[in-house]
Amino acid sequence: MRRGLAVLAAAGLLVTGCSGGEPSSDPTPGPSTPTTTASETVGPAYDPGFDVALSEPVEDRVYPDVGDPGVDALHYDLDLTWDPDTSVLTGAETLTFRSTEADDEFQLDLEPALEVTEVALDGQPVDFVQDGKDLVVGADVATDERYVVSVGYSGVPEPVAAPTTRQDLVALGWTTMPDGAAWTMQEPFGAYSWYAVNDQPSDKALYDFTLRVADPMVGVANGELESREKVEGLTVTEWHLAEPAASYLVTVAFGDYVTAEETSASGVPVSIWLPADESDRMAELRRTTVAALDWSEEVLGPYPFDSLGFLFVDSTSGMETQTMVTLGLTDYATSEPVLVHEAVHQWWGNQVTPRDWRDLWMNEGMTMYLQALWESENGGERLEARLAGWAADGPEMRAGAGPPASYDPATFAEGNVYYLPAVMWDQVREQIGDDEFFRLVWEWPASRDNDHADYDDITTWWEDESGEELTSIFRKHLLAKRQPAYRP
Ligand SMILES: [Zn+2]
Repeated sequence: MRRGLAVLAAAGLLVTGCSGGEPSSDPTPGPSTPTTTASETVGPAYDPGFDVALSEPVEDRVYPDVGDPGVDALHYDLDLTWDPDTSVLTGAETLTFRSTEADDEFQLDLEPALEVTEVALDGQPVDFVQDGKDLVVGADVATDERYVVSVGYSGVPEPVAAPTTRQDLVALGWTTMPDGAAWTMQEPFGAYSWYAVNDQPSDKALYDFTLRVADPMVGVANGELESREKVEGLTVTEWHLAEPAASYLVTVAFGDYVTAEETSASGVPVSIWLPADESDRMAELRRTTVAALDWSEEVLGPYPFDSLGFLFVDSTSGMETQTMVTLGLTDYATSEPVLVHEAVHQWWGNQVTPRDWRDLWMNEGMTMYLQALWESENGGERLEARLAGWAADGPEMRAGAGPPASYDPATFAEGNVYYLPAVMWDQVREQIGDDEFFRLVWEWPASRDNDHADYDDITTWWEDESGEELTSIFRKHLLAKRQPAYRP
């Protein structure tokens, strides 16, 4: 959703990004670097390594106030300094993006608790305004041109209210603990509580992080740890995420961590990050995290990224954050079924991601199904009994939160999008047989590597690949108000 900068300027809200200079009277200052088509191939923003992050951003059908389809973020470079004594986060952000349209402004999401001190486009200060959570930047941008926007900001981050009744998801984004440790979980949005972002899943981007915090704390983020050193009493870590991620799959945490390295049966490096005062749990987690990845690779094929980490924080929830899963230190969130669930998400959700929040069921249905399968294979409740129980609860779930692919926006990520699509996948398995079902469970994420999909994409693909009529199963289970019978 977009509000016009001109309206904001008329209301006196406009500030200039120039620190110390004369306020600009030009309402539409453009970048001073040439913006001919040459910049597509030789300009400062052009890096062919970013092409893998090209997206076709959309306006979210469930949460249209977040994200802006005018921006296609390609690469975020986040240099973050966390002060655990004052709870002040200071960010120096450099975002390379493609403009999807010609305009005299563009917009990012950023919580107003973080005060922006300067914004520059291709190195030149530009006007900007913080209107609520919208950071509106006044600069001429052209369709398909790439730009580098740098944003300086500082403040005490606050979490964002979650659109759900789930007790473990009361607040989203940045969370500060009494001891000064901090962590983030931000599905469906809330990344904007700690950096300026196009906070909508259709816009995947690459990430590099530089994280600074007073020793003995350390900053942890997605991807691979490239360096760790002490500089004037600070621990400085650099992290690199080599494949694009949606903003809800980004994680960062600061705390006093111990770490261990393992390797999966296939050779994938697995790291575990535990708060130092929980280090007695390390031995078990070294075993269970790797076992979860090994099982997932047997079902889903080669792991789609370079490394996997498990980051444990003082939360009651868990998130499948890409290549660095973030989990609360509860018995449930650290249990083997949940480790399997989050590992499976690296394929179903992270490798292929819903284009918008209408299709959250795509992530959670299959992940819940495979979690239940793992439990059935490992001494838990038999799969059929589990699914029958979920189907029996279906009428109540649909009445409370709506059908899985047409849910009430105020009930994000409730049981209807987990359990009812899992029942549906079992019906699909019944229809097409085990061999074909597990072939397609394996092949679907790889067929959309680093990409997105929606309801039409996935249902059409499953029909085409299986050669079976599946539309009625999908429609009945995902869109109908009434719960279909389980294995009628
Ligand atoms: Zn999940």
